[in-house]
Amino acid sequence: MTVTVRFAPSPTGRIHIGNARTALFNWLYALRHGGRYILRFDDTDRERSRPEYAEAIAADLKWLGVQPHDTAYQSRRFALYDAAVDKLKQAGLLYACYETPEELERRRKLRLSRRLPPVYGREALRLSDADKAGFEAEGRKPHWRFLLPNFDADPHQTRRTEIHWEDVVRGRQTVDLASISDPVLVREDGTYLYTLPSVVDDIEMGVSHVIRGDDHITNTGAQIAIFEALGAEAPCFGHHNLLTAADGTGLSKRSGALSIGALRDSGLEPMAIASLAVLTGGSESIEAVTSLDVLATRFEPAQASKSAARFDPADLWALNRTLIHAMPFDRAAPRLAALGIEGEQSEAFWLAVRDNLDKLADAADWWRIVTQAPDRESELSEEDREFAREAFALLPPEPWDETTWKAWTEAVKQATGRKGRAMFMPLRVAITGRDKGPEIANLLPLLGRAGTLARRP
Ligand code: GLU
Repeated sequence: MTVTVRFAPSPTGRIHIGNARTALFNWLYALRHGGRYILRFDDTDRERSRPEYAEAIAADLKWLGVQPHDTAYQSRRFALYDAAVDKLKQAGLLYACYETPEELERRRKLRLSRRLPPVYGREALRLSDADKAGFEAEGRKPHWRFLLPNFDADPHQTRRTEIHWEDVVRGRQTVDLASISDPVLVREDGTYLYTLPSVVDDIEMGVSHVIRGDDHITNTGAQIAIFEALGAEAPCFGHHNLLTAADGTGLSKRSGALSIGALRDSGLEPMAIASLAVLTGGSESIEAVTSLDVLATRFEPAQASKSAARFDPADLWALNRTLIHAMPFDRAAPRLAALGIEGEQSEAFWLAVRDNLDKLADAADWWRIVTQAPDRESELSEEDREFAREAFALLPPEPWDETTWKAWTEAVKQATGRKGRAMFMPLRVAITGRDKGPEIANLLPLLGRAGTLARRP
């Protein structure tokens, strides 16, 4: 069987790290099995869906390294859903309902007070043609429910009806169709809820594996019944645990701070995000993985925990530093060039500074410090200034390399008697203007003797 997966976001906002988890689980699954990946926008909700969100989601996925083989929009596929509706109506599996939300709520409370499960009681199945005509005459429009196969002969006598599947993530799962309400597939205004279009598309696109959040487990029970009602075999399902913020609350497309776009703008590497999004709440330790291909080999969907997984945005920065500190020059070079960091010295510069960076863009500050002038974040005391002036007079002759610092500071120690921090710090501050940063031993060959002497206080 060719593996075909899909990531099906509704374009009602930017995707966040939790959505990225779903997108990446599917992508890694496809990578592992040489499968196809479809990006499908669930944009049947015309009010809330926006083309600019769809574009932003596609761009975010691309930045993460997900490369869909195909992109589809449900809003362009209504004819297929209409045909499925006709088929279900003809089979007597889709029925018109006229209740208002208030009526439904009242009935739900009544059922609860009678200790009955709060599911829809199929009252609309008892409506006569005359009742329906009466509602229509009042201007009421029907919404349409799918009749779940959870009874023998009388739909008002439901019986326990177990749907089972072998979940790619959670193992064997069971949903009792008598414990859920007949799902509404079409709203009063004729628009589709996500349930039916999703099934129709999964059939039509040959989706073999539906990997999504575990908030869809109950839907899966109903959707498997719809697959069967449409004469199709249901795909395999996998439901992964959801990520929650550090305080345990769920993520939402409206919580902008954790959107992929905001995380990217803050300077995070895509693989820092992908590593955390995939490895959180799994069996593998969370570490910075350098590519999605490698991450695919670490990805064990069946080992993911079943409960919600907290993730801490601070971990993203630890992963980011690990990625930057180990990033080879070849990999960094195009992005450094975009920051104006190029030329003969750029490789030595990168190797000198990368260990001190939280994010790649910070290299620009150090480039300015090395190629132009120190930025004066720290100042020298009068006494340290005197000391530094004396020390600069002892700078060794060229050629300079990474041993020059040691030779110089030995000489300074001999001449001045200063050592340790009292000696290093004033020199560091004089050269870079900062009291923290890359090893001075690596900066000296970049500055050269004249460049260093120019910083004599
Ligand atoms: N649009 C749905 C969601 O974002 C898709 C669920 C699915 O993958 O079937 O939750």
